[in-house]
Amino acid sequence: MTHPTDTRPKLVVIGAGMASGRALEHLLDAAPDAYDITLFGAEPRGNYNRIMLSPVLSGEKTYEEIVTHDAAWYAAHGVTCRFSEPVTGIDRARKVVMTATGETPYDKLIVATGSNPFIIPVPGHDLPGVISFRDLEDVNTMRDTAARPGAKAVVIGGGLLGLEAAAGLRMLGMEVTVVHLMGHLMERQLDEAAGYLLRKELTGRGITIRCSSNTKEIVGSERVEALRLDDGTEIPCDLVVMAVGIRPNTALAREAGLAVGRGVHVDDQMCSSDADIYAVGECVEHNGQVFGLVAPLYDQAKVLARALLGEEAAFVPKQTSTKLKVTGVDLFSAGDFAEADDREDIVFRDPARGVYKRLVLQEGRLIGAVMYGDTGDGNWFFGLIKDAAPVDEMRETLIFGPAFQGGAPVDPMAAVAALPDDTEICGCNGVCKGDLVAAIQNGATDLGSVRAVTKASGSCGTCTGLVEQVLSATLGDDFVLPSAQPICGCTDLTHEDVRRLIKAQELKSMPAVWQELGWKTVDGCHVCRPPLNYYLLADWPLDYRDDLQSRFINERKHANIQKDGTFSVVPRMWGGITNAAELRAIADAADKYNVPTVKVTGGQRIDLLGVRGEDLPAIWADLNRAGMVSGHAYSKGLRTVKTCVGTDHCRFGTQDSTGLGIKLEQALWGSWTPHKVKLGVSGCPRNCAEATCKDVGVICVDSGYQIGVGGAAGMDLKETERLAAVTTEQEAIDITVAFVQLYREHAKYLDRPYKWIAKVGLDWVRERVVDDLAGRQALIDRFAISQSVYQHDPWAAHVDKEQARYAPLANLKLEAAE
Ligand SMILES: Cc1cc2nc3c(=O)[nH]c(=O)nc-3n(C[C@H](O)[C@H](O)[C@H](O)COP(=O)(O)OP(=O)(O)OC[C@H]3O[C@@H](n4cnc5c(N)ncnc54)[C@H](O)[C@@H]3O)c2cc1C
Ligand code: SF4
Repeated sequence: MTHPTDTRPKLVVIGAGMASGRALEHLLDAAPDAYDITLFGAEPRGNYNRIMLSPVLSGEKTYEEIVTHDAAWYAAHGVTCRFSEPVTGIDRARKVVMTATGETPYDKLIVATGSNPFIIPVPGHDLPGVISFRDLEDVNTMRDTAARPGAKAVVIGGGLLGLEAAAGLRMLGMEVTVVHLMGHLMERQLDEAAGYLLRKELTGRGITIRCSSNTKEIVGSERVEALRLDDGTEIPCDLVVMAVGIRPNTALAREAGLAVGRGVHVDDQMCSSDADIYAVGECVEHNGQVFGLVAPLYDQAKVLARALLGEEAAFVPKQTSTKLKVTGVDLFSAGDFAEADDREDIVFRDPARGVYKRLVLQEGRLIGAVMYGDTGDGNWFFGLIKDAAPVDEMRETLIFGPAFQGGAPVDPMAAVAALPDDTEICGCNGVCKGDLVAAIQNGATDLGSVRAVTKASGSCGTCTGLVEQVLSATLGDDFVLPSAQPICGCTDLTHEDVRRLIKAQELKSMPAVWQELGWKTVDGCHVCRPPLNYYLLADWPLDYRDDLQSRFINERKHANIQKDGTFSVVPRMWGGITNAAELRAIADAADKYNVPTVKVTGGQRIDLLGVRGEDLPAIWADLNRAGMVSGHAYSKGLRTVKTCVGTDHCRFGTQDSTGLGIKLEQALWGSWTPHKVKLGVSGCPRNCAEATCKDVGVICVDSGYQIGVGGAAGMDLKETERLAAVTTEQEAIDITVAFVQLYREHAKYLDRPYKWIAKVGLDWVRERVVDDLAGRQALIDRFAISQSVYQHDPWAAHVDKEQARYAPLANLKLEAAE
């Protein structure tokens, strides 16, 4: 929306954070044209979901996934963005804000400057390597430090933020120590028993926890080298993360002469002591209270938007509940759980499952709840606390949650169906069950649309399961499960989740995956073992050993089993080229082993069909002796590179397509991939090698090489899409290798490249393998590491192991037969 001669009142916003982002959304939804809006941000980016920095740190999410307002959103809503431009002053008399580039006038001003992390002023606090955990820069610093081999971190503060930082750093492989002043972790949210269970869990993950410890000094000359405690203990470290609390960021407001206490004073309409200046978010103080969680800030944002439109609304702080966003740690806390004479506790423990629940009652009402290990009923308890509902009648069964009330069966769906409409489901966004049901009845029938309409599950995401249950309870049989299905019945995690977590948590064996990701079976099943085996060997080629038992029979036998129980044997023919000696060896083998059918394949290879299982080692040995290796015609790996004759023999040929095909095959053979991979190289656009329906197809042209990807000619028929056009053969090889490695690292098992590209987008692929030269080289390097382990001939290895008499074996460094 552009307003060339804009007469609208000018609204200036200081701070592009979560509170102002939400306020702008409400304002623009209600009255898109009411204000000419300018948004100043000190960070070099727009609004993102700060809550989700923890999963970005641990590698479970990317920054792109947590952006809430991108450039397109600001443009579409006509918001003028001035990012990387901190406001340095407010002149209330002239109604302007000042930045390094000049002054900007306002009619109405919103101060939304958030908080500053508190830095304990101990000696050494200003050394490089001492940081807080507040924004993306902090996360990047932590990830960069963690990438150094053997790097160590100390996190000061065992509260919510400190523990999320510690867990994330640990998942990145750092040695982590948490130094906490108090006697147990998260003492503001947890009692000692739950604190103990949490400590046990984190210690089990390799994090050292030091409670009742006080920092005396941070030691280092150029940068941080160690942290010294009061008792003289020195903990060597390369990084210190201070997560000891936040202070409302009030400097601007104070200098401008606004009423400021701990935060910027606001009334119920979020108006400061100046009628034209509002404040919202963590920087405010309302009736003596300051805020540090998003739920109340979002309520403030709603009120502020209405106030800016002259509508009536008043901010009323509500109770908040707490969840820790550490994968695999289930923890919930709400209300007041301090001990007192007039309070009684109901406690449930299940040591085998590591479950602890404690409810605190006062005068027949629930006033506090702490849960560890099983937090499914958390929101229901939270609802009882907020409503101050009498619970005497269900006292006996209260601790077992809503499913046990009124004699109902223990059925989670029944429990969700029984929840009253005003039960809060999404704490971050203050969305109640009734809001969800209304949205569902108005046509939002899947998670994505319910999230879009209500925002439920869009912030920290811990209520996603509950939102789905409300969907299911409301829609009954019409509810379609989200398309992201778990791998199999052994886990609730999707392929994508598992791939991400294997990397993020550095899980390097199947037992580690089963244990850390909570597999429900002892050792997986025939459905999940093959993908796990693939993900582990692709991500950790130097650490993980391929597990033959987790392979399909063709891969175990290194040959395709036929319908009569015999096998087919396909030797590799580099680029589809062979010679008399090879053909003679194939003919001899066909005679010797009574091979009934010899067929030329669509990929320009020769297939010996009908070989008996017991003859396999011998026929492989014979073919090895003639210099041939396995053609991997059975594997989820590189199958064939089909070529045309190119400049060698064809008058239309523009480049040496055969030579390039051979080089590509020599580079890629032996690698395991999520599904089979086929390549084609044609010497000119006449395309005799049918390269445009391959996973990677190169078309040679006078100016160089056109590389297409994502073709298919099976159940689906699809033409390749252009990934890049390059001038040199080496670039064509590099881009192809990098593409295959990117596919290996990211695709879901059994997704062919065209399916994977459809999910991630060709632009995403191009950015990584074409545009980002350093990234491309890193992919090539990682591929080389993997090939150093996996590029070997399975025929030779098998023969070598079981039939030592077959010597000498094939020279695996052999050049292509020419
Ligand atoms: C790692 C992490 C995890 C969290 N997890 C949770 C959670 O699980 N649940 C929960 O409820 N809350 C959580 N929080 C807290 C939540 O993120 C904050 O409550 C929320 O972001 C505060 O919103 P805000 O808009 O007030 O401040 P912010 O989001 O911090 O935004 C303020 C913005 O103003 C900018 N700014 C400051 N001064 C100026 C200036 N002079 N000029 C221009 N721009 C300026 C800042 O750079 C910042 O971008 C978490 C916070 C962090 C850091
Ligand atoms: S693709 Fe072109 S160069 Fe290759 S054989 Fe066909 S016509 Fe000749």
